[in-house]
Amino acid sequence: MSLSLTDALRKIKGVGPKIETQLNSLNIFTIEDLIFHLPIRYENKTQLNEIKDLDQNQTAHVEGEIVESKIFFPGRRSFLAKITDGTGFLNIRMFYFSQAQAIAFEKGKIVRAYGNVKISGSKIEMFHPSYKVFLLSERPNLDNTYTPVYRTISGLTQFRLKTIIRQALSELNLDDICMKDADDFFESKKIDFPKGREAISKIHMPSIDDDLNQLRTFKHPAQKRLIVEEFAANQVAINISSERINKMKSFDLSSQKLNLESFDLNIPFYPTKAQQKVVQEIMMNFQEKKPMRRLIQGDVGSGKTIVAAAAMNICTQNNKQSVLMCPTEVLAKQHFENFVNWFKDKNISIELLLGKTKKSDKEKIEKKLINGEIDILIGTHTVFQKNIEFKSLALIVVDEQQRFGVKQRFDLASKSQSEEMPHQLFMTATPIPRTLAMTIFSDLDLSIIDELPPGRNPVKTVVLSNDKRLEIVNRLQKVCKDGNQVYWLCTMIEDNDSFDVQSAETSLEWIRENAPELRSELVHSKLSNEEKEKNIIDFRNGLIDILVCTTVIEVGMDVPNASLMIIENAERLGLSQLHQLRGRVGRGPDMDSYCALLYQDPVSENAQKRLEAMKKYSNGFDISEIDLELRGAGELLGLKQSGGIDFKISDISRDAQLLKLSQSLTEKISNLESTKLEKLIDRWIGQDQVYIKAQ
Ligand code: ADP
Ligand code: MG
Repeated sequence: MSLSLTDALRKIKGVGPKIETQLNSLNIFTIEDLIFHLPIRYENKTQLNEIKDLDQNQTAHVEGEIVESKIFFPGRRSFLAKITDGTGFLNIRMFYFSQAQAIAFEKGKIVRAYGNVKISGSKIEMFHPSYKVFLLSERPNLDNTYTPVYRTISGLTQFRLKTIIRQALSELNLDDICMKDADDFFESKKIDFPKGREAISKIHMPSIDDDLNQLRTFKHPAQKRLIVEEFAANQVAINISSERINKMKSFDLSSQKLNLESFDLNIPFYPTKAQQKVVQEIMMNFQEKKPMRRLIQGDVGSGKTIVAAAAMNICTQNNKQSVLMCPTEVLAKQHFENFVNWFKDKNISIELLLGKTKKSDKEKIEKKLINGEIDILIGTHTVFQKNIEFKSLALIVVDEQQRFGVKQRFDLASKSQSEEMPHQLFMTATPIPRTLAMTIFSDLDLSIIDELPPGRNPVKTVVLSNDKRLEIVNRLQKVCKDGNQVYWLCTMIEDNDSFDVQSAETSLEWIRENAPELRSELVHSKLSNEEKEKNIIDFRNGLIDILVCTTVIEVGMDVPNASLMIIENAERLGLSQLHQLRGRVGRGPDMDSYCALLYQDPVSENAQKRLEAMKKYSNGFDISEIDLELRGAGELLGLKQSGGIDFKISDISRDAQLLKLSQSLTEKISNLESTKLEKLIDRWIGQDQVYIKAQ
């Protein structure tokens, strides 16, 4: 028992600087974080399946002798190993593999493989299973517990991560690990949950006697025990922050009123009814002298930015400052350019602040902010660095923040220097399920922009196999000849031996070869800032026809003249991401826009469903429903995207039926001494400080 929860990771045997860095990038900084890095699913490697019994799509564990192994080339480079266990033959196939991996499959050796079974005709195959190769004489034992699978990063193997977690568990005194008052509460209610410490051990190391199906669906009592505590932690945090904020005053911004026909801005269109309604809701809040905290939900392209501009305009009319924070520099610059245009002739000062802004410029901005010489500040999370202070900051707008959990809201609240707390506005394209709106967002007012600007046609979407890519060239040429532009999105920058995907660099070459008359350029994170910026600006100004890019353009990018989006290896992307990306086109009025989703076989069943859903639906709500359904089926687990909150174990839709219990736990513990509550909040929400962490 030599470890304690607050110890540094290096105190664990086997953790050096390299692993520490890897763990840090998973948001794990202390032993407590490590212990609460909970499995996202379980595998059953406790027994073997016979090849003759395998079914289509079954997840199976097989072992057999290698009878043949070879690399196919030319054509699509692939690897095949044929194995037999005496009851039948099975092919292991890989498209992404290294030379070393291929060599390891020596004829006569034994392979143990775990993966999904595909049967076509008489062929039984597994694509990219997880596997071990060994000599018969060195045959390892089968696992004697179910195997937890964790969210990890490349370079840190499941095995290593599991070992480190077990090591920590074995040296830690677990008595204090969960909330004792919660244990007592469950006992008093006669709810048959294990104690917190048992729940933690169980979840990391389930035994063979546990119900695997329960574990896989997160219905095991040990999982429920923790889910209820996690929900309660979030609710307690919300209540504390609400209470605090409700006692605070905020700026009265009612002396001036906007004209709803134009928001008093220089804009070439009329605001939609939905946009006007939301601005009115904001104006109501601005009269109440209490801090507004409002969440605006509107599908991609619904026009959230102008609503933010309207709210900020009210601030400037009332001689107060406001700030707009964006998740990327690309987006911050774009907003800045738009704002300069929208606020033309107003004699107000708008500044852009980015991480890379020159030090001398930064200092100038800092000075002007504190003197009140800047009215509107736009930037990335740099706008909340420690040394940034405002003379009278009345409104904080957070755009497309994928994560705006309780902790962040909490921290924003403490940003205020003056007695008056700034109003807060959050904007997201992610649909908020009702259960979420009622619980985790219960302290926020919700506004919905449920209408797209007029003249928007749905983006016509086609799904195409990679071998048919030549078919796109015609469309490409036609679109550009008509004066429109194209995004060409790739999931990787450069070619990589272990992934057989179309990289941005290869695609650019291919485009230049096949459509030499079109102007195509690259944008990705490895380019220098100058190059990246030049290409984005040129694209915006119509000097580039085709922008070959990575997901750096995913959120917010707005070039209304772009009408064709091509996405390579669309099978690798999640549904909400695909929807965000497709939302980059179809932004101009009355034009036809297209999206081509290219895929590379083999495509998993779920990926296929994702692509079909994209073809069929254009609305964010429909897409999110399918997304939920598919993720429920197990594929994208671990990306707990419900409304952009990172839970450690809970999932608001899956676990909705536990919310009531967690609510009564919350009531029960709300009056406990604050140190206990702080500990609870720290444990579950602790390191989740995304943009407020001082740098
Ligand atoms: P999002 O909600 O995805 O952030 P944006 O704010 O980027 O959407 O708006 C998408 C595009 O629609 C922009 O080019 C914007 O100028 C335009 N737009 C916004 N509101 C209207 C409107 N009422 N009428 C016409 N175009 C609009
Ligand atoms: Mg936007």
